[in-house]
Amino acid sequence: MLTRTYTKTYTLMHAWAETVVHTKNTIGVSKAVREDAPCCAPECDELLVAGEVAYSPVELERTHANPGRGEPWVCWRHIRPDDGPLRVS
Ligand SMILES: [Zn+2]
Repeated sequence: MLTRTYTKTYTLMHAWAETVVHTKNTIGVSKAVREDAPCCAPECDELLVAGEVAYSPVELERTHANPGRGEPWVCWRHIRPDDGPLRVS
């Protein structure tokens, strides 16, 4: 039996949309995803980071995972865990 002590396993998903996470101070993008928004994946404690790409996975239903708040954005760990975050400068 494989015991994982140090490595947290994240739920792997498939993105159908992606967006760039904005800082809290960004003006003119009212529907944008903001930094420090919680990742919507179950059992993931990560917060979204400004400048990184966030993903909307086919596995999560919009209303169920993120009621009233648009797409259920998740962090890169569920989409490209081996490659690390995509950063947009
Ligand atoms: Zn996550």
